[in-house]
Amino acid sequence: MMQRGLIILALLLPGVVMADAPIAIAIHGGAGTIERGQMTEEREQAIRDALERAVREGHGILVEGGSSMDAVTAAVQVLEDAPEFNAGRGAVLTNTGTVEMDASIMDGATLDAGAVAGVRGIRSPIHAARKVMHKSPHVMLVRDGAEEFARDHGLEFKDDDWFITDFRLQQLRDIQARESDEGQASTQLSEDWFSTVGAVAVDADGNLAAATSTGGMSNKRWGRVGDSPIIGAGTYADNRSCAVSATGHGEFFIRHVVAYDICARMSHAGLSLAESANTVVNQVLVEAGGDGGVIAVDAQGNVAMPFNTAGMYRAAIRTDGSVEISIYRDDD
Ligand code: ASP
Repeated sequence: MMQRGLIILALLLPGVVMADAPIAIAIHGGAGTIERGQMTEEREQAIRDALERAVREGHGILVEGGSSMDAVTAAVQVLEDAPEFNAGRGAVLTNTGTVEMDASIMDGATLDAGAVAGVRGIRSPIHAARKVMHKSPHVMLVRDGAEEFARDHGLEFKDDDWFITDFRLQQLRDIQARESDEGQASTQLSEDWFSTVGAVAVDADGNLAAATSTGGMSNKRWGRVGDSPIIGAGTYADNRSCAVSATGHGEFFIRHVVAYDICARMSHAGLSLAESANTVVNQVLVEAGGDGGVIAVDAQGNVAMPFNTAGMYRAAIRTDGSVEISIYRDDD
């Protein structure tokens, strides 16, 4: 009787989602050599707080009956604005000290997708990617062309001062000093961690979405583009399988088409979300030498967050409403 009353209430109030609808969201803020005792307590708390704000922002949209596309966009925007992560404000610097950002988004219901690469000054590159998807016939725009498009569509721009943090300046100096000591080429890409951000979600209609945003890799050669804006590599969503957002050494994720491969193994080989994500991250990438991890969700609301590094900044709110905010491997 009670249950019937709830169903009627839900039908009368559009936007109210039944508690048993399989909504779920997962987010990441990068994977890498993240071990206990490495960072100050203040920094760790700021990271946990930002992860919680982002996952709750996205989940709030899903609870109100909003779409997974809106949920992943909102969650990623919170992380872009948080200076602790390598996206938007706080993005890493290129070898010439500039900020060049990449982002992409994909709608699992339609397979529509949008992406921007190498953009400068756009406060929220994920919004630019979404505009490319909705307001252009294209999937990806790059550099000046993408910036002009974003300006034409009213997106907010910020000066370098807003993006560049002391932490990233010091990180670049350290990497470049290490390189000159070791006599390595300045195009060397190795990094101790990758703090790209991303979100995946399933909404009450069973629609999946994925979004990823990044400054790329610290000391990358200017003009370099990684996996994050590449549909199939750093981002993929298809209602028939899953939604994936990746973080890690982009060149490996591009070569192994990681996000698409996880979805394809579910569709073609009948693997579960957990088996598929785990195989690609802990076998395929490990054998290739590619460090990183992914977050993934399927239409039933299952969540997988495997990584092959020491840690991954991650958070999820699962179908039962339980909240997870984790950094280290043994947080689980
Ligand atoms: N995957 C990103 C890139 O290669 C880096 C990251 O995940 O932090 O550009």
